Amino acid sequence: MSHLSQYLAQNQFCVLIEYLTSSQKIFSVPNQLAGFPVCMTLADRVHSDTDLSPLDAAALYPKDIEKVLHFAGKGRDIADFERFLLDAKNSKQHNLLLLTGDKLKNHHFGDDQQPRTRYLESVNAVIAAKQHGNFYIGVAFNPFKYVEAEQDAQYFKLCKKLKAGADFIITQLGYDIVALQQVKNFLTEQAATQKILACVMPLTLARANFMLKHQVAGIVITPHMLQVLQDEKAAGLTEQVYARCALQILLCKHLGFAGVHLSACHQTEEQTRLQHYIEEYKALDFAACLSLWNHLWQVQTGQEFYPKLVQYSRPVSSKQILKYQHLSFMHDAFFASKMAKSFGHFIFKSSFWDKTTTSQALLKSEFVSKHRIVGCESCGQCRLGKTLYICPETCPKGLANGPCGGTTLDRCEFGDRECIHSVKARLAKAVQQTEILKTELIPTVPFEIRGSSSWKNWFRDEADWG
Ligand code: SF4
Repeated sequence: MSHLSQYLAQNQFCVLIEYLTSSQKIFSVPNQLAGFPVCMTLADRVHSDTDLSPLDAAALYPKDIEKVLHFAGKGRDIADFERFLLDAKNSKQHNLLLLTGDKLKNHHFGDDQQPRTRYLESVNAVIAAKQHGNFYIGVAFNPFKYVEAEQDAQYFKLCKKLKAGADFIITQLGYDIVALQQVKNFLTEQAATQKILACVMPLTLARANFMLKHQVAGIVITPHMLQVLQDEKAAGLTEQVYARCALQILLCKHLGFAGVHLSACHQTEEQTRLQHYIEEYKALDFAACLSLWNHLWQVQTGQEFYPKLVQYSRPVSSKQILKYQHLSFMHDAFFASKMAKSFGHFIFKSSFWDKTTTSQALLKSEFVSKHRIVGCESCGQCRLGKTLYICPETCPKGLANGPCGGTTLDRCEFGDRECIHSVKARLAKAVQQTEILKTELIPTVPFEIRGSSSWKNWFRDEADWG
């Protein structure tokens, strides 16, 4: 049993301090911060795609420091993850934080001689880690979403992560206390046993500017927040950065969070300043902490943490609903019904379909009949029946189980389209199919079957029939 799992099981509020692995510099890691036990978390390719791996970075530190290794699925498939799990097991690392990850800096769309960059979904990573056993598995969640479909899509996916076997949750970095309270209430309503930690960071003006300049995915920094930080800097009140971070940590503790994931605070001097304010405010109750927090952020309405609400998305049209109903009918009739399965199995079990010419002709027919309608990319494992007939391959990361955390007001992290998972969430509500988006754990597509006919694969593999 890992120390982290013990802290969480015993409701011992803990602090996970994040260390980037972009340099091989060794930092001093405290064993407690203001009396709270500390674990170190090692980030995966946050600074660049070629950062030192968290496993290699962990080996640079003493064994008795409790560690949480991040694994981001960007640019990786399930085989990469299986190798990582074996290495982690051999290195006796038990705590994992499994993320899909933001856009790979060197992302390829598959139109430039390079194969399309693939992303291993966190849901699939959780399932694989769970099957190995002996891992204590964390997942990420972004509660800082401000339009309905985008927020629904996040919560639907959280349900899947919990169903897949996640042991604990860490939120995205954010400063909206109401949104944090909302996810805590959600877990209580669901009677979820998993503990949740909030990601916090002493937000300096330089860091806020950096995140805005680089459009760090999924992080909300509003003009109001920026103005407060600018005014403070001009007035020489930069200590308030640490006072606010201390207050947020204590607010999370009062709200029942199991701990915090502390980013950008890996220097001893920063930790000392933060600790000072935690000690100073430790005796305050929730209301007093909140009042001071609101004062320091100059909060009047609570909406100071909301991004400017721009309407990018359109309501579900009757055309979308008709398309869903039509495709659902076709799927049931030609793939899911007992008769279709028996007939299809009889036809496709023949080795005739394995000949190069016939398999190519079949693949071409499938592509032609589906590409224009749903954007099919011949993945070989059709998941349309579990995605409300919105093809996962139309998501630039190819995610089937739900969105990553990087959307902004329904817009995809890539910026060129509406997030397909928001579209799906909106449609699901309109056709009363939200349950499927919370419960259907969609397996990852093995690399080897991409580019083959999903029709043949479907009828041959009875395990897919569910
Ligand atoms: S899920 Fe795969 S087979 Fe189905 S439409 Fe999308 S790319 Fe084609």
